This record gives sequence, C-alpha cells and structure tokens, in this order.
Amino acid sequence: MKILINDGIEAIAISMLENAGIEVTNKHIPQEDLLVELPKYDAISVRSATKVRKELIDACPNLKLIGRGGVGLDNIDVEYARSKGIAVVNTPAASSRSVAELVMGHLFTIARGLQIANRKMPLEGQTHFSDLKKSLSKGIELETRVFGIIGFGRIGQEMAKLAIGCGMKVLAYDPYVNEVTLPLVIQDEIVKIQIRTSSFDHLIANSDVISIHTPGLEKPIINAKEIENMKNGVILLNAARGGVIDEAALLDGLNSGKIAGAGLDVFLNEPTPNDQLLTHPKISLSPHIGASTIEAQNKIGVQLAEQIIENLKK
Ligand code: NAD
Repeated sequence: MKILINDGIEAIAISMLENAGIEVTNKHIPQEDLLVELPKYDAISVRSATKVRKELIDACPNLKLIGRGGVGLDNIDVEYARSKGIAVVNTPAASSRSVAELVMGHLFTIARGLQIANRKMPLEGQTHFSDLKKSLSKGIELETRVFGIIGFGRIGQEMAKLAIGCGMKVLAYDPYVNEVTLPLVIQDEIVKIQIRTSSFDHLIANSDVISIHTPGLEKPIINAKEIENMKNGVILLNAARGGVIDEAALLDGLNSGKIAGAGLDVFLNEPTPNDQLLTHPKISLSPHIGASTIEAQNKIGVQLAEQIIENLKK
C-alpha cells in the first residue's frame, strides 16, 4: 500500500504508517500534476491546500482512501468519493481541547484586565506603576459564576469541562443536543457530570460569561437584541467563526459598559479584522490560533494515521 502525504503530517504519523507496512511518500505534488501522479498511490493525505475533486477522483480508479488532517472537508468531493467506495477520514476532535483552553485563557485575561496590563506595562510600568495597579484592581473571580455555552458539540463540551473545573456553573444551549454526560478526569479518576441543555433565552438572561461554539452561521446568533437581554457586565467569547457575534453590536455593548469584556480568536474579514476590535481596551485578542498547538497537531497526526491504517489494512 502506498500513500502520498501531500500537505505534510506530523512525524509520529509517518512512523505509525511505516510501522504498519505502508509505503509513505511525504512530498508536495502541485495540484496540476496530481492527475498524472496520484494514480500511482492507494491513498492521499491532505490538509486544506490540496483539492480532491471529482476529476481527480475519476483519474484514480484504485484510490482507496482520502485523509484530511483537521476539521473541514470543503476541499474534498466527499459524497462523490464515498459513492466510488473511497473512504474519507478526518480528525474533527483533535483540536477541541486546544480551542477550549485558548478560550479559557481569554476569559482569565479579561477577568483581571491582563489585556490592558500587557499593553500598558511595557510603556508605563516604570513611570505609572501605582496608577496602573489602581486602575486594574477591580478584577473578578470566576468561581461560582455562570458560564453559558452556545453550541454544545465537541468544543462546547470541552469548554464545559474546563468551566466546571474552575468551579463555575454551566448552562448550555444547542437545538440538536438535549443532554450530555461529561467525563471529567480528576487526578486519574473519572467523574461523570450530566448536563441538560437550556433554552436560548434562559442562557442569555442568566449567564455571566457567554461563549459561542456553533458552526459558521448565515447570520449572527448574538445581535444588539440578545446583548440587551444579557446580564450587565457579561463577558462574551468567540473562537467559533467570525460573524457569529454581530461585531458592531459587540462594540456598542462594550462602549456602553453593558459588556465588560470580550475574547476573540475569530473575526469577520480575516486576515484584516476591524481595527476598532483590534484596538479596543476591553478585548483580549488572538489571530485564529485556537487549534494551533503542538498537542493538537500531534493528535491530528495520530488520529489520522490510526484511521488510515484501519482502512488500508481492511
Ligand atoms: P461540532 O459540530 O462538534 O459542534 C457544533 C455544535 O453546534 C453542534 O452540537 C450543533 O448541534 C450546534 N449548533 C448548530 N447550530 C446551532 C445553533 N444555531 N445554535 C446553537 N448550537 C448550534 O463543532 P466543534 O468541533 O465543536 O466546532 C465548533 C466551532 O469551532 C466551529 O465553528 C469551528 O469552525 C470552530 N473552530 C474554531 C477553531 C479555532 O481555531 N478558533 C478551531 C476548530 C474549530
């Protein structure tokens, strides 16, 4: 069995594949050459760069598997491939923990104004130390606060585990999920916590922190109306997709004081987000790095290799 790794993969995945007796070619063949080159292989692994469309699939009658490291499958004609008996596998859960941990980082940052401290200390830390100390002395603790999760899938559930670990209460809203049993690993012991989802309105009105974990939506799920119905001093977090929170309404809410702070990893118009968001003192920012950790990359490699081996050895 021969596999072409066209967009790179973690070294651990290559060893796993080779140890399973699969011949690995780890080099990038340009898209226009794949029609001629790919028929020499039994399988291909891609990330987002390489497209595996109908024309390419038709050119490879012996192709058995298409692997995609990561979440989206937009670059692969999945249904067509499956109709030809080709397995299509990906690793949607590999980065869930990383995204949830980043969101928690934004939350801790906002709770204590660290985004302001990190911007001002290098400039004023020696000249205005006491003023900075005074202005940043109204932080909050997270324990006992209510963490509302909109979209209770893979990342939403990881988020809940972290929030519970911090002593927060979790509310979750998801039109497709009623109840979830979360396995919490505490000092090697597994504690199971059951969470029933709530109504959207209940979550909006009762959460101190609201984090969005839905797929990309056609229109924002959080607009001026929803913000108006939130608690005063609410914290909003978005590491899902740019545009699930209306950015203008978010800015209005921050400026009026209704929203105490926001943590954003995703933006409309990436890679040139709205400047007013980037410079706002109440926003903790990151450049869409939720999934980008060493562990997530390793998990992508391991989970992809496991599925490739399982399918090619059938
Ligand atoms: P998932 O499919 O496991 O979970 C999404 C959940 O949202 C599902 O349970 C679904 O039922 C629910 N949902 C759908 N429509 C909804 C609605 N209108 N209201 C409330 N819930 C709704 O997906 P996931 O892996 O948890 O990913 C969640 C989001 O995170 C996606 O938008 C994904 O693009 C994003 N993401 C971001 C990063 C990053 O780097 N920041 C990395 C990976 C994923």
